[in-house]
Amino acid sequence: MKKLHTIALFGGTFDPVHFGHLRMALELREALGVDEMRILPSRQPRHRESPGVSAEHRRQMLALALAGGGELQLDERELLRPGPTYTVDTLEELRGELGEEVSISFCMGLDSLLTLPNWHRWERLLELAHLVVVARPGWRLPGEGEVAELLERQGGGVGQLHREPCGRLVVREQTLLPISATDIRQLIAAGRSPRYLLPDAVLEYIENNQLYRTATESGP
Ligand code: ATP
Repeated sequence: MKKLHTIALFGGTFDPVHFGHLRMALELREALGVDEMRILPSRQPRHRESPGVSAEHRRQMLALALAGGGELQLDERELLRPGPTYTVDTLEELRGELGEEVSISFCMGLDSLLTLPNWHRWERLLELAHLVVVARPGWRLPGEGEVAELLERQGGGVGQLHREPCGRLVVREQTLLPISATDIRQLIAAGRSPRYLLPDAVLEYIENNQLYRTATESGP
């Protein structure tokens, strides 16, 4: 069977981007063997509170973090689309642009997978893309319910991401660096340094723009 061009998407708020995100995206790119790994910052995520700083600040920090390395690309489409971010709309748009002969994988954490049945038009997602679920060592998948049924029906392996354009649910075990954006925001608000948790260029941007000094910062 023909090998398809493969694109993976790594979504999140990146408020701010840190080494946990960057390592995860790079390791996933290598483990999946995809041709492109795109970082997909969301404008106004549905499943959590609004981010601390503006879309423009988050975009600029990502651009700084990704400059210099060619392995990860920035896909800005959700930042440019006004209103709430629905993954299904993004995947519809991408599928329309790329056609049927490209394999698209949307990467998410196991926590997100467990909430999948609450996502807008979630059953459509697998008609548009594969879902790659990253689970920490020691993870447990649900034994029953809609997600368990989905795994039973559409569970697959990395090889299928290269041969089929969409429709597989692939679970990958991967270690996460113990870094969180919430901790970084709290360190800064407390007047402490987050250096070595995120790229220096991003820290410099945060300092120059005085971001995250209080819990509810907003930008341009
Ligand atoms: P917050 O603390 O604000 O929730 P976060 O860093 O946990 O931020 P996002 O910015 O939304 O969350 O994360 C983007 C993606 O990166 C998500 O898929 C999330 O599961 C993943 N992620 C978050 N932290 C890490 C980490 N330390 N290592 C690997 N992946 C991570």
